[in-house]
Amino acid sequence: NGFIEMGLAPELVRAVADLGYTGPTIVQRKAIPLAMGAGHGATRFIDLMVSSQTGSGKTAAYLLPLLHTLIGQQAQVQAQERAALERAAADAATRDAPAPKRPKRKDPMHTRHFKAATPGALILCPTRELAQQVAHDAIDLARHCRGLRVANVVGGMPYQMQIAKLQNASLVVATPGRLLDLQRSMQIKLDKVQFLVVDEADRMLDLGFSDDLAEINQLTSQRQQTMMFSATFAPRIQQLALRVMHDGGSSVQ
Ligand code: AMP
Repeated sequence: NGFIEMGLAPELVRAVADLGYTGPTIVQRKAIPLAMGAGHGATRFIDLMVSSQTGSGKTAAYLLPLLHTLIGQQAQVQAQERAALERAAADAATRDAPAPKRPKRKDPMHTRHFKAATPGALILCPTRELAQQVAHDAIDLARHCRGLRVANVVGGMPYQMQIAKLQNASLVVATPGRLLDLQRSMQIKLDKVQFLVVDEADRMLDLGFSDDLAEINQLTSQRQQTMMFSATFAPRIQQLALRVMHDGGSSVQ
């Protein structure tokens, strides 16, 4: 159906089928293979500057490759954990001791002390409404991805609830102001962010988030990939692209 040929993880192919997507939209057809980059011929992830309108399917154009990469990384970590557990069990067997138990995961809602969240992927949106829509789409597309948590960080919501939901989140969808509030109060650390998406970059600048973007750009400077989506390629957007991406990002129109 077009999504299978892209080499997307089976969990995601199932999710798009559940949602009734019969094939990728134009922007998805162009952006997804480029964004998947590493493992698809490229030696590193490619930064992308995508011109896209609302309604074009732009959200899935970045969510699908992002989720695909996170699934791959999660599978690697799980394989390592399994191997370590098997080694420990084999070791215990030779010493005739009881096999080690798999550690129980604590439910963060019931854990009194939270440690700072360290998401691997961050999506920035200019408004609360867009961030909520994107988080909703991410949860929909990640429906078959076990253990992959999505959290939403936006202004105007109780802090405590957001902090609880942030625990163990791999993917955070945020508005810049609230994100930086949580970063300053050390509820979230951004130095593990490997993938950054700036959605509706033009509105982001219109709404005065330029300084916040600069700060988040610094805080996530070790990331592997940046994708920017914007309705226009106005000069100020190109300047922003040059500041935050390798070579200003590969253009997708
Ligand atoms: P967006 O441009 O991201 O706001 O998406 C607009 C709408 O198109 C959303 O309701 C998506 O669920 C839907 N959509 C995204 N990708 C596809 C697709 N490949 N086929 C059908 N609908 C889609």
